[in-house]
Amino acid sequence: MSKVLIYAADAEEAKALAIVAAPIAGGPPAALLSGGALPEVEAAALAATSGEVGADVIVAAASKKGNEVAARAAEILDAGCVTEALSVAESGGSLTAKRAIYGGVAVGEFAFEAKPAVLTIALSALAGAEGDSAYGEVSATAGEDAGYDKELVKSEPLAKTVDLTKAKRIVSFGRGLAKKEDIGEVETLAKGLGAEIGCSRPIAEELKWLPQEHQVGITGAIVKPDLYIALGISGAIQHFAGMKDAKVIVAVNSNKNAPIFQFADYGIVGDIYEVVPALEQAIGG
Ligand SMILES: Cc1cc2nc3c(=O)[nH]c(=O)nc-3n(C[C@H](O)[C@H](O)[C@H](O)COP(=O)(O)OP(=O)(O)OC[C@H]3O[C@@H](n4cnc5c(N)ncnc54)[C@H](O)[C@@H]3O)c2cc1C
Repeated sequence: MSKVLIYAADAEEAKALAIVAAPIAGGPPAALLSGGALPEVEAAALAATSGEVGADVIVAAASKKGNEVAARAAEILDAGCVTEALSVAESGGSLTAKRAIYGGVAVGEFAFEAKPAVLTIALSALAGAEGDSAYGEVSATAGEDAGYDKELVKSEPLAKTVDLTKAKRIVSFGRGLAKKEDIGEVETLAKGLGAEIGCSRPIAEELKWLPQEHQVGITGAIVKPDLYIALGISGAIQHFAGMKDAKVIVAVNSNKNAPIFQFADYGIVGDIYEVVPALEQAIGG
């Protein structure tokens, strides 16, 4: 069993972390609460506390700050770090953590080779943590506001043209579209359906035909529309991970063996330059 050190935003989060860490904890974990200082200040305090209490494992919530503080503490301690863990376990003296991989289509199990190990726990796992678990508070705060050595001089909202995560309908296109000028065809269909426009990564990143916020996939937007139409998109795993939760997936692809047909609800084997005008006509565009 391990000596666990918890880093948490507040007592409630510390309790949820203690419950998730219970299977590996040899006794009540120590806890260090955030004092609202910069991540680098709190990470230094966390690393120092880890040494003081002889922690084998440091656990934090996979919040924005938790992830940053944990990663920085791991760097200071030269420790292994797994973020967004769904669960932790110990068997035969070896500590393991499970986390989603490939954009959530699989779960990977990671083993730590050295101690201390640093983990952040997925917020979904913390939300489901129920039961009683005690922890002993080591220090009230990991740092104080006075530790700020940066000043925010200006803040500007990023101009966003679209938020695909909220779209009910998306018409997405990929490299099957031959040239940038043809985006007009896709726009006409999207307009007729009241849909937003999405794209695969090569369209946004390599060809730069659309801004990055139109990109769907593991490194783009994770979308859950009622309708997702994929035009000339092969259906690579990284794209699939971003749109697999769409209620209805319609794929148009000239290659009947394109992977996208494996998960499309409706598949049309055909040329988008013929199918898109036909769809426009069908919806009265
Ligand atoms: C770390 C990493 C992260 C990545 N993240 C993402 C991501 O977030 N999102 C993403 O999309 N990709 C991502 N990728 C890239 C991904 O692996 C694929 O390369 C990419 O999705 C392919 O884009 P595509 O389907 O547009 O192009 P292609 O794979 O080239 O497919 C084009 C398709 O169009 C079809 N086609 C061609 N002409 C026509 C026509 N006239 N009519 C109908 N169909 C036609 C072809 O049959 C083909 O299936 C990532 C890759 C890596 C390594």
